[in-house]
Amino acid sequence: MKMNYTHNDIVELYDQYVAHTYGRFALTAVSGSGVTCTDINGKEYIDFTSGIGVNALGFCDEKWAEAVSKQSKTLNHTSNLYYTLPGGLLAKALCERSGMSRVFFGNSGAEANEGAIKAAKAYSFKKYNNEKRTKVISLVNSFHGRTITTLAATGQEHYHQIFFPFTAGFEYAEANNIDSVKALVDDDTCAIIMEMVQGEGGVIALDKEFVQAVRALCDEKDIILIVDEVQTGIGRTGKLFAYQNYDILPDVVSSAKGLGGGLPIGAVLLGEKTKDALAAGEHGSTFGANPICCAGGLAVMERLTDEFLAEVAAKGEYIRSKLQGMPKVTALSGLGMMIGIQIEGATAKAVAAKCLEKGLLVLTAKDRVRLLPPLVIDYTDIDKGLEILQNVLKECDE
Ligand SMILES: *Cc1c(COP(=O)(O)O)cnc(C)c1O
Repeated sequence: MKMNYTHNDIVELYDQYVAHTYGRFALTAVSGSGVTCTDINGKEYIDFTSGIGVNALGFCDEKWAEAVSKQSKTLNHTSNLYYTLPGGLLAKALCERSGMSRVFFGNSGAEANEGAIKAAKAYSFKKYNNEKRTKVISLVNSFHGRTITTLAATGQEHYHQIFFPFTAGFEYAEANNIDSVKALVDDDTCAIIMEMVQGEGGVIALDKEFVQAVRALCDEKDIILIVDEVQTGIGRTGKLFAYQNYDILPDVVSSAKGLGGGLPIGAVLLGEKTKDALAAGEHGSTFGANPICCAGGLAVMERLTDEFLAEVAAKGEYIRSKLQGMPKVTALSGLGMMIGIQIEGATAKAVAAKCLEKGLLVLTAKDRVRLLPPLVIDYTDIDKGLEILQNVLKECDE
């Protein structure tokens, strides 16, 4: 086997052998530690992306890596025909801290949302014995995943192309407009799905008043409220789940991204109403509750104490206060360490590219720069990253 691959060698491999479904930056990552990522040429980057909200504990956290490697040498996988301890413990931790009752494990955010929608439909069908009570309302500008059903749930026309026919029964209401939701609700409505902070849609937080009004409407009509916490969950907003900032309890919660600390895992959290909606044989996933992924999840959950989460909120505030005074910044959005930056005089894409050049990884969402720093980042690294961003904003012209 050839040794010493260069960046260009690897780009060639991708060009020839990997499906061309992503636009990538010219960076080949080879290692990471804490908030620092090292590329194939030895250049270091401060990470303000967490691998799109995944590396909650940063790169290769020591305790996480220890838990994962220990589990990988003890029991890697069994299938869901048998019981294993990590799945049981992770489900318990999630339920105890979310107010939900049971957990179904899968592998990704889209799969978690699929499971959430199936749970809502199963609840509705079994209770009302009505195969028409299947309408799901989601919000304009939402993002719920890339499967045919979760694309249908995604409230953006741009995603409703090419892959016809999409799953029927989805309608889109305006965020922060309860009348728009009420106008769509009828006797055939089964569920409402929404993100507390629209991530891919531009880091836009919902109003508390709106969220609470949706919760009340769902209670009144026995509609299942699904909260998509794939990006907002696992401490990102300064609470374990973002809905905990809104003083509501959903009927179903989907989780993924940060949950495994860098391993693929998704979870559907089922509340009292929905905990028995799916019976044996009605849902499943081969890798679900994989012991290694669950061991990673447990290491993440153990770190996210109330004190840790309060620190996440404080660091989010600190970052916002520093961003406020920066050149070209016209508005900030989001919640906790999920931050959208509206800028003028430069595109978000150009800023991200320039930051990469200068050793800082940032994301974009629509026309905003999006920051999702690892939750463990300290103030020194926050300052270092923000200094790079400030210089980029100063220099970057259209
Ligand atoms: C990323 C994301 C998804 C999709 O998750 P995958 O793991 O890529 O399937 C769904 N919903 C939200 C809110 C997300 O941010």
